Amino acid sequence: MQWNSIPVIVTRNPRARKVWLKMRSCRGIEVVLPYRVSAAEVPSILERHKAWLMERLSDLEIRGQAPGQNPLPDTVELAFLNRDYCVAYGEGVRPELHVEGTRLRVLLPGGEAGAGALLLQMWLTDLGKCHLVPFCRELAQLHGVTISDVRVRNQAGRWGSCSARGGISLNAKLLFLPRPLARNIVLHELCHVAHRNHGPAFKAALRELDPQADLHEELIRTAWADLPAWTKWRKADLGL
Ligand SMILES: [Zn+2]
Repeated sequence: MQWNSIPVIVTRNPRARKVWLKMRSCRGIEVVLPYRVSAAEVPSILERHKAWLMERLSDLEIRGQAPGQNPLPDTVELAFLNRDYCVAYGEGVRPELHVEGTRLRVLLPGGEAGAGALLLQMWLTDLGKCHLVPFCRELAQLHGVTISDVRVRNQAGRWGSCSARGGISLNAKLLFLPRPLARNIVLHELCHVAHRNHGPAFKAALRELDPQADLHEELIRTAWADLPAWTKWRKADLGL
């Protein structure tokens, strides 16, 4: 999308002292004008802030929240499980998700795409708890690492973490990765139980458990950007 084809909403606020410019997820640009500024100035205001608008727009596109963009998928391909799910949509009084084998049915009131994205995230997190928790516990046992709890969430920005008490937190998005990559990330967190930083001892420990760690880490670096947009919606985007 070009910046000059983004929908623009112009409003006035008598209390505004200067022009406010906002990029609203899914909606477009909102320009709030004080009374002394004429609406005829809007095109030049937008022109002046073109670079900022483009930057915000590309952020939104990555998350599937640019104006007019529908983030909801027809299929969900989970490499970790070697399984593809089909998603069908329908109208419902309230947001609902029904699972039947590898078929998902999402019911939404009046095409609330954001609510659908959050439902799919909840489903992904539950699925993550079923598969990633035992996966992590088995690896810990195999390599003699003592861990406390294993939690799975759909956190933004990180694949996993390890607390000082040996609690492992894993991102449900790991289900999108092929097993060797997900395994590398879990082993990475398990190595943090003994090594709290990324120093030479940590690196050596990880490379002993995963001899292909260099290759796996390189592939993991680009994997986040390839995740589907619906996995990155946040509740705040919906005003929830
Ligand atoms: Zn780390």
